[in-house]
Amino acid sequence: MNNKPVVIHWFRKGLRLHDNPALLKALEKVGESYYELRPVFILDPWFVKNAKVGPNRWRFLIQSLEDLDSSLKKIGSRLFLIKGKPTDTFKKLFKEWNVKKLTFEIDIEPYAKARDEEIKKLAESHSVTVVAQVSHTIYDLERVFKANGNKAPLTYVKFQSVVAKFGMPEKALSAPGVLPKQCQTLLLSDKYNVPLLEDLQVDLTGIGKELYHGGETEALARLEKYMSQQDWVCKFSKPDTSPNSIEPSTTVLSPYLKFGCLSSRLMYHRLHNVIDGRKHTSPPTSLTGQLLWREFYYTCGAYIPNFDRMIGNPVCKQIPWKIDPEDEHFVAWKNGRTGHPFIDAIMIQLRNEGWIHHLARHAVACFLTRGDLWVTWELGQQVFEELLLDADWALNAGNWMWLSASAFFHSYFRVYSPIAFGKKTDKHGDYIKKYLPVLKKFPSEYIYEPWKAPLSVQQAAGCIIGKDYPKRIVDHDIVMKENLAKMKQAYQAKQEAPENAESEPIKRKK
Ligand code: FAD
Repeated sequence: MNNKPVVIHWFRKGLRLHDNPALLKALEKVGESYYELRPVFILDPWFVKNAKVGPNRWRFLIQSLEDLDSSLKKIGSRLFLIKGKPTDTFKKLFKEWNVKKLTFEIDIEPYAKARDEEIKKLAESHSVTVVAQVSHTIYDLERVFKANGNKAPLTYVKFQSVVAKFGMPEKALSAPGVLPKQCQTLLLSDKYNVPLLEDLQVDLTGIGKELYHGGETEALARLEKYMSQQDWVCKFSKPDTSPNSIEPSTTVLSPYLKFGCLSSRLMYHRLHNVIDGRKHTSPPTSLTGQLLWREFYYTCGAYIPNFDRMIGNPVCKQIPWKIDPEDEHFVAWKNGRTGHPFIDAIMIQLRNEGWIHHLARHAVACFLTRGDLWVTWELGQQVFEELLLDADWALNAGNWMWLSASAFFHSYFRVYSPIAFGKKTDKHGDYIKKYLPVLKKFPSEYIYEPWKAPLSVQQAAGCIIGKDYPKRIVDHDIVMKENLAKMKQAYQAKQEAPENAESEPIKRKK
């Protein structure tokens, strides 16, 4: 047993030193002295088993933890990485380490909320003080909820009007400097080192080329890279960015915000500094507007029951989707084999690189659900959860409901064409050719509709449709009309969305 009193800062998300109020609370003086700081990250088997995490996101997480460990070492501490269930881990640590205080960032996801309640009780029974702070979002979501009459605002405009009353968010906090001697840790045992990706015992099959390096250092550099482009920031308007540019047309800060390598509050203030006093775009389409979408969905996710599923979710339209994870259309969609090159290229980019543009997400989500395949958004959500670097529970569910016209957005008759939409920003299909090299010799005329190419053209391109690349699995013009009729019927049907219904998520394929 350690004699010195210890404070644990428990990193879960919030993998950063800057703007980390709970970490700063851990470093506060107690009487005349300090507690020794032990920053902990627990590799919880629940995430390995239940939250399907693809190999690209595992790599991003490990890199983020390595970066955190290295930053902590610079200030006289280190990261203690422990594998196990949080309850078992803390039971042991509280005793062995003589823990007096535990600090962490508030998390609104259902698993995290239940887990944290358990840990709070455990801490109380060991006389350990718990300090939990808001820092994953710009606003305190409970404050938003209360200010909106104890309910989540259900529209972006409503959300904006509620937070407008709060005024400017408080400034982001600085990272701690070198720690006072008493806070520094001397425990250097290798057993707590961040593991190598290869030692994680997770399936690394299909890991892609690394495009986005995880960690706070990279997050801050990426933020500054974009903030230095003043004109670009001031003119940023999301609908005018391109889903299929070869280089991303938006910031790709989402994986960093998801893991909390970057503070959303810091980004908000940096944006404010850049646009202040200049002509600029405004929410919802501006970059600040994008951050507010994040806050909006977080608030909804925190307070709407069963937010990640249809049944038992009071804001979600009840639609008789296909729900079979073995459905051949669903399987073709997730593997980029629908025969629609624009859709397939996006799904291949997602699988290989872990990030796709927002409007590309629109295109494939609409295609899977109300547009073409009539498959439940919950299955699409699961594929995104596995493959996205930025997979984020509230944002993923909220946006899938939006795109499938299940909640928040109700113009179900506005459907994306898997052919015309991509052409608007990439006439010759360079993006398609990058991700589907089998089509690279196809003439521009047929690149979005290769099934229309005469056999001689297919032969000249070295790609026979139905042999080297799939035939289209649906005819968009036909299925879209059928689906519109089904949507109309579902919208007209009396909606039964029992708030407290027993609800299970749609089963994923093992
Ligand atoms: P930028 O345009 O540079 O925006 C900056 C930040 O604002 C983003 O990093 C993100 O944190 C936030 N943001 C932007 N758009 C949205 C939005 N529509 N909703 C909420 N926050 C937003 N985003 C995720 O981070 N995780 C997800 O799991 C996720 N799932 C999605 C599923 C579907 C079906 C759709 C249509 C969108 C989803 N999004 C998700 C939202 C959005 O597509 C991404 O946040 C965005 O594309 C990330 O790229 P960026 O960082 O370049 O965005």
